Amino acid sequence: MVIFIFIFLGIKSVFSEVKTTCPYCGVGCGVLAQVDEEGQVTISADPQHPSNFGRLCSKGAALGDTLSMEGRLLYPEVEGNTQSWDTALNTVAYRFQEVIKEHGPDSVAFYVSGQLLTEDYYVANKLMKGFIGSANIDTNSRLCMSSVVAAQKRAFGADTVPCSYEDLERAKLVILTGSNTAWCHPVLFQRIKKAKQDNPDMMVVVIDPRHTATCDIADIHLAIKPGTDHVLFNGLLVNLKNANEKNESFVENHTEGLDETLEMAKSYASTSEEVANLCDLNIESVENFYRLFARTERVVTVYSQGINQWSYGTDRVNSIINCHLFTGRIGRPGMGPFSLTGQPNAMGGREVGGLANQLAAHMVIDNEEHRNLVKEFWQAPTIADKEGLKAVDLFAAMESGKIKAIWIMATNPAVSLPDSDKVKRALEKCDFVVVSDCMRSTDTTRYANVLLPAQTWGERDGTVTNSERRITRQRAFLASPGEARADWWIISEVAKRLGYTGSFFYNEAADIFKEHAYLSGYKNNGERDFNISGLQDLSYTEYDDLETIQWPVTKEKPNGTARLFADGYFYTKNQKAQFISVKNHVPASCLSARYPLRLNTGRIRDQWHTMTRTGKSARLSGHIYEPYVEIHPLDAKLISLQDNELAEVSSASGNVVCRVKISQSQQQGSVFIPMHWNEQFASRAVVDSLIAAVVDPFSGQPEYKATPVNIKSYQAHWYGFLLSRRKLDLVNASYWACSRGQGLWRYEIAGDQIPQDWAECARSLLCQHAEQVEWTEYHDAAVNRYRAARIENGRLESCIFIGPDYFLPERDWLIRLFKDEKLSENDRISILSGKPAGEQKDAGRMVCACFNVGINTLSETIKSQNLLTPEQVGEVLNAGTNCGSCLPEIRELIQQVLIN
Ligand code: SF4
Repeated sequence: MVIFIFIFLGIKSVFSEVKTTCPYCGVGCGVLAQVDEEGQVTISADPQHPSNFGRLCSKGAALGDTLSMEGRLLYPEVEGNTQSWDTALNTVAYRFQEVIKEHGPDSVAFYVSGQLLTEDYYVANKLMKGFIGSANIDTNSRLCMSSVVAAQKRAFGADTVPCSYEDLERAKLVILTGSNTAWCHPVLFQRIKKAKQDNPDMMVVVIDPRHTATCDIADIHLAIKPGTDHVLFNGLLVNLKNANEKNESFVENHTEGLDETLEMAKSYASTSEEVANLCDLNIESVENFYRLFARTERVVTVYSQGINQWSYGTDRVNSIINCHLFTGRIGRPGMGPFSLTGQPNAMGGREVGGLANQLAAHMVIDNEEHRNLVKEFWQAPTIADKEGLKAVDLFAAMESGKIKAIWIMATNPAVSLPDSDKVKRALEKCDFVVVSDCMRSTDTTRYANVLLPAQTWGERDGTVTNSERRITRQRAFLASPGEARADWWIISEVAKRLGYTGSFFYNEAADIFKEHAYLSGYKNNGERDFNISGLQDLSYTEYDDLETIQWPVTKEKPNGTARLFADGYFYTKNQKAQFISVKNHVPASCLSARYPLRLNTGRIRDQWHTMTRTGKSARLSGHIYEPYVEIHPLDAKLISLQDNELAEVSSASGNVVCRVKISQSQQQGSVFIPMHWNEQFASRAVVDSLIAAVVDPFSGQPEYKATPVNIKSYQAHWYGFLLSRRKLDLVNASYWACSRGQGLWRYEIAGDQIPQDWAECARSLLCQHAEQVEWTEYHDAAVNRYRAARIENGRLESCIFIGPDYFLPERDWLIRLFKDEKLSENDRISILSGKPAGEQKDAGRMVCACFNVGINTLSETIKSQNLLTPEQVGEVLNAGTNCGSCLPEIRELIQQVLIN
């Protein structure tokens, strides 16, 4: 929906306001994009969107920072040369055709993404499964939620998410397990927090080995031993049975398999003592949790990657669902097992069959009736009749030479797949690699024979589905730059060149959506959950104006469906939900003397995936600017690691170098490294190079949470940092990590070799032999300390600080000098000391991204004004009063200040 508004009387005119959706996490917040006459974009939260009701987190609020053309792929390239679309598309079609002719359809593959819109996904799946005739299309959603798909299909007979976000507000008990909701789904966290404030009886239990920001709202935090959540939930099942909490009529009439499931649970989790023992919890906390669950009717159990990303992730999900089935707490307001998806359109991908083991519209490949139905509907020449290769197997097959051509769309597998060094080798070996992306240089594009420029957020048009089955339009509000095109258009053009013109003749995304909707209702007599046939006859205008809606949407339910299974009927053959027996699993890889610590990986608050977009924002990069490994103080002491030094983390498959962060939040025996950094932002920090390629046998989801690793101090010969208005190539640094600041690039660096001449080295890097450079420097060769700054026309252009150890000046004051068009005399004098002269205060590392409030400012204000709550801090400094993402950190800071 495009609204044209002109406001006169001296107020800046708004040219258009477009309702769209945030492209990051699975919350799917509604966003308003306003473009003024000069093309300036203002992003705000959509107050009417039912996912966020006017809220945005720090990432959503900074969307406007990520729209620049910097780094964009704008023209097709073949073997490194810019080519016309026609040449590029012909090359892709010809090479795929040749490979298929010689080696058969299973020798080619598509690797797609939860970043694609539903319409893109639909066309890619249709081409591969119905026309090429292979099911070798898999998606990066395999990595984050495929265990949920497998578990829901086992329990419910279909991949059905039963709940709605409003259930989180209507619940009396919200359990957050394997989910750092505060950082990964921040707007939902804010909704739960608000609900808790409004209903003081509401309880929140957080189950997580780490003490995360989510614990900010926890009444009970169960710091469980990593990987034992299924023990806790199996123990809960036994406890509910012993406490006579079975919902007799629901279990008798609507479920199957309870006896075997209970027997299995009893075999290792029959008492609270046993559970406490296996989970490293105390008995009282286990019993408190069990009592709370037993006595609370309205319970929602929220779970995410912390549950899914294990070699037994599917069983872990089923152990949660079992407890909800046993108590009949499903399908009614304020209750149910609720998976939060990581990506903006992971759900849309599931709907169109973007996983290698699915068909379109939630149909399954190993069902002949479904295969015939889809083939008939598509009028396809063929249909894949067996499952394709799931992500990890797909790249393994590429390495062994079985996959000879791959098309990667909107994802970066060289960073995100486990054993990423092996993935790079596979891409290197593959005969023909096509990458469609909006960015020119990623860790994956460097392997491409053909690069195809895709549109990105703000330019594309289509739909996405969020974690609560809510379909929302993503609408374009910017013109496509260069020759960037919609993914669905690119795929359809290749399909036409493969000879399938009639089946891929789409004028607009709306044509594809309507076909998708039609298929969902085709011969669907209520046996299939996914049904949006109520939207199949939308006109172009109606599609353009489509309001957000939760599926199923049928003629009988034209306004969508808030929750499923209200009637107790499921999508299994006999319409009964299935209890699933869950064995007592342990992680696939064992700890050893060589690798004694367990590595957990995950997201941080202000970055998204491999940082290709969020890495452009200075605001977002200011929160955490360097890859780090978080470790418990006792483990750090044992290895003699110091806070803030560099460390090398190794596993059987790779190694990374990152900054040490010693923290009580981390459990002893485990370490945490964020998943985002890659070779564009750091020299050696692709954490997935450490992860073994072991997967869940049902879902194929990799075990990202339990890799055995060891850590040792990384002893460089020099350490330093560098701030520059220009992006630099750091050839002499053996360690570097770069991040974006306001008008500058920030580099943390270290090296194994001391340059013969620091001055020469620094000048060649920062001055590039420019004339008329004002250059100020200080060098103490005896202690290997060097500092220099380049000033041009009174403005700081760059500076470098080198020392023999990592105890270097704070960067924040220097970073702020880059905002000044002219340095003051005082600042000029003080630059090489790295701190302001006189009374000026250094604000410190930024905590509140919205109002740019640093940690030193916060600490000093909390102390001097005796502020005891985040609300009081907000009143004085504004910090935390916009998106609220930093509130848990502010609360923690208040605690620290009070303790000290
Ligand atoms: S919670 Fe944040 S990242 Fe997720 S959709 Fe909303 S604004 Fe975007």
